[in-house]
Amino acid sequence: MNTANVDQAELAKFSSLAHRWWDLDGEFGPLHAINPLRLEWIEGIVTLKNSRVVDVGCGGGILAEAMARKGADVLGIDLADKSLKVAQLHALEAGLPSLAYRQVAAESLAAEMPAQFDIVTCMEMLEHVPQPSSIVQACAQLVKPGGWVFFSTINRNPKSFLLAIVGAEYLLNLVPRGTHEYARLLRPSELGQFCRAAGLELRHSRGLEYNPLSRRYRLSDDTGVNYMMAARKPLAHG
Ligand code: SAH
Repeated sequence: MNTANVDQAELAKFSSLAHRWWDLDGEFGPLHAINPLRLEWIEGIVTLKNSRVVDVGCGGGILAEAMARKGADVLGIDLADKSLKVAQLHALEAGLPSLAYRQVAAESLAAEMPAQFDIVTCMEMLEHVPQPSSIVQACAQLVKPGGWVFFSTINRNPKSFLLAIVGAEYLLNLVPRGTHEYARLLRPSELGQFCRAAGLELRHSRGLEYNPLSRRYRLSDDTGVNYMMAARKPLAHG
């Protein structure tokens, strides 16, 4: 297995919480809260039904399972063994035969299954790996020409430090302390550069805003803190 581009301490953090993946009020509550929003955004751009999708860094399968329910044929990959077991059990309970999980690095799967997926999703994962550019490159390899890659991560600026780290981890306790490291957050310009270097064309971006008073998230034009990006792999010429 290609495990070069992995931070074991990050995986350990997620593994230790694996039993909490499907607890709506638990540490992964914010991922459940944003899931309908990111799904809605993805569906505004691509058709999930009958599409072949790989979800990179799938965790407990919150997005992978939702996409399978929409009729996509989904493969979820992650390196945290415990999370994958939880994801597998949950898929079994839900009776979703078009949903499978594998413990494999994105780079390894890209070498094994190049250009085999219509859609690649990689949400809230890039900020946890040593070399996000290598994951972006792998996503670009996994997607078919003409296919789409969706990323989400957290911007890096004073506002995102205040809201996503101080606010979410220390004041509101939305996620455990230490979940995000400031230096690993990614500016949209940096993610855009990784995409271009990997031969992907940036097409759309969208912000995800949290309102601490209503305790709700919404899609917005403000990519200053949490944001998503959609990129397309150009059709091959000739
Ligand atoms: N994408 C899911 C989970 C996000 S949490 C969602 O948005 O609902 C981040 C996930 O990235 C965790 O499941 C963690 O195990 C995984 N991860 C961290 N480093 C990784 C790596 N190098 N390769 C694959 N997955 C990784």
